[in-house]
Amino acid sequence: MELLEAVEACGVVGAGGAGFPTHIKLKAQSEYFLVNAAECEPLIETDKYLCRSQAQRLVDTVGKIAAHLNADKPVIVLKDHYHEEIKAVEEAIKELNSNVTIFKIRTFYPAGDEQSLVEQVTRRSVPERGLPLDVGCVVSNVGTVLSVADALEGKPVDWKYLSVTGDVNEIKMFHVPVGTPVLKILEKVNIRPKDYSVIMGGPMMGKMLSDKKAIEEAVVTKTTGNLLVIPSDHYLVRRSNLPLRTMIRQAASVCIQCRMCTDLCPRYLIGHDVFPNKVMRNVWREENITDNDSYLEIFGSAANCCSCGACEMFSCPMGLSPRRMNEYIKGKLRQRGIDVPKNTSPQARSGVDIHKIPTERLIARLGLSEYDTHKSPNDLIEFEPEECIIPLSQHIGKPASAVVSKGDSVNKGDLVAKAAEGLSANIHCGIDGLVTDVTDTKIVISKRGDNL
Ligand code: SF4
Ligand code: SF4
Repeated sequence: MELLEAVEACGVVGAGGAGFPTHIKLKAQSEYFLVNAAECEPLIETDKYLCRSQAQRLVDTVGKIAAHLNADKPVIVLKDHYHEEIKAVEEAIKELNSNVTIFKIRTFYPAGDEQSLVEQVTRRSVPERGLPLDVGCVVSNVGTVLSVADALEGKPVDWKYLSVTGDVNEIKMFHVPVGTPVLKILEKVNIRPKDYSVIMGGPMMGKMLSDKKAIEEAVVTKTTGNLLVIPSDHYLVRRSNLPLRTMIRQAASVCIQCRMCTDLCPRYLIGHDVFPNKVMRNVWREENITDNDSYLEIFGSAANCCSCGACEMFSCPMGLSPRRMNEYIKGKLRQRGIDVPKNTSPQARSGVDIHKIPTERLIARLGLSEYDTHKSPNDLIEFEPEECIIPLSQHIGKPASAVVSKGDSVNKGDLVAKAAEGLSANIHCGIDGLVTDVTDTKIVISKRGDNL
């Protein structure tokens, strides 16, 4: 089977981000194929584990994808302090006599942001709201490349690797079927606080599960790479629960217009027009601006914000929320039908290399230093839950459509939902069992057929 066909059939999507269908991303020709092994967010172990444990498969598949893309520059990007991972990948390159190279970047946030990564490796800036392909690059992360390796062996994306980090006795690596309830994983971890919250992903851009119900309902999807456990009275939980109106009020009364949010913004640094300080200065009067041209002039730059959170989690000395304000304004720009012009040839600003946010200082600022143990797990816990709840939308684009019905018997690896036309992806099941429920949003599979 051709690479693209295999990737599409096996339902491969971006493993580390929003789940962009990989067969669509790889329908391209490029100069560079960049593999993000820099683990963008702090306190995530998954990509590092995969680099150490599957270096040969990684390098081999990077070569195959690069050949498919006609990319003569296949590059694996690692942080310079990932000594073990760099060694494993270097040995694999040597062993396979591969043309893949390693690019070491400093430990900063957001090192793994696609556009910052492209700028660091190639010194090219991706156009505003553009794609790496616009400057000759395709970027994938380690998990995605290994899903392609599986697809080339006929295995669909039905299991996921993920780390559990934070306020736990020991950081652990798991390998579980897609659809595994998060609680079943947490039961296998010694969680220290009695009352805890969970961030699915990393502390900067992950999804906060701050109450018991949200944790009970959460399941592992194709894009889950980490569960970060924190006490439920942690600063990050309190911050995520701040109402929008309070944030707007704070912006009006507390912002000192120091510009740190803008000057350290990674998208501003690669040359995009992103001016969160301007948004913060004016957001209190936003509803009173009726003229769309004035609105565009004052708030248009919010459209270029990638929601990385650097401004509100690190840069702002007053603890304000420029990211949330930008997200709010983006919605308003859409509502008003304002089309924000794009700069298609941005140039990185002069401070791009010196204004990087050191990850260790970011971790301290987030109140997470005590969980930054620098101990990487090498053991893997694999288990199957009794029941998997498989969401039909685990990717950007249209949800997949169920092709099974209640009462059907299914086996591990079976297709259970077919991709819709256009941007979508197939979904497979990771356990043998019986389908006990099918709704518009999920398929439930039970090993014993409970509740049938
Ligand atoms: S969240 Fe803040 S730092 Fe990140 S891109 Fe948006 S404005 Fe810039
Ligand atoms: S960093 Fe904070 S205080 Fe400074 S301009 Fe931005 S929002 Fe205002």
